[in-house]
Amino acid sequence: MSIAQDQVVSIHYTLKDDAGEIIDSSPEGEPLAYLHGHGNLIPGLERELTGKRAGDKLQVTVAPADGYGEYDRQLVQRVPRRALKGLADLRVGMRLQAQAGHGARAVTVTQIAGDLVTLDGNHPLAGKSLHFQVEVTGVRAATTAELSHGHVHSPGGHHQ
Ligand code: ZN
Repeated sequence: MSIAQDQVVSIHYTLKDDAGEIIDSSPEGEPLAYLHGHGNLIPGLERELTGKRAGDKLQVTVAPADGYGEYDRQLVQRVPRRALKGLADLRVGMRLQAQAGHGARAVTVTQIAGDLVTLDGNHPLAGKSLHFQVEVTGVRAATTAELSHGHVHSPGGHHQ
């Protein structure tokens, strides 16, 4: 069975940045299961997996536009520290939910200088080329419930 729309795919993966540092990987013995064709993986990786089969190994380099997007300077803002009152232990690297136009947006504290705090709304991997090593460990048809929910229900998947 080769990977196509509406199939549940299990993969082992290691993700490295341009410098060869490991950014993320599937836990040992616990492949990631996802529903193919439902936007659960970044587009550049999902596209390369289409047509592959269990046992296939591949190396995929994903450009920012096909990954977590280009880095957008407009998403960086500086706010006075008092706007974040209630956060006693504010520090660089902290992830916060900021109120934006319609709803909350995840931001990262990237600098604290005097009374000014810099918040970056870009995904931490925005603007980065992503280097994946992937091994396909399983491919099966999705259940009706999985298809209606748009995600996997089996071990290795998740439920929200
Ligand atoms: Zn569900």
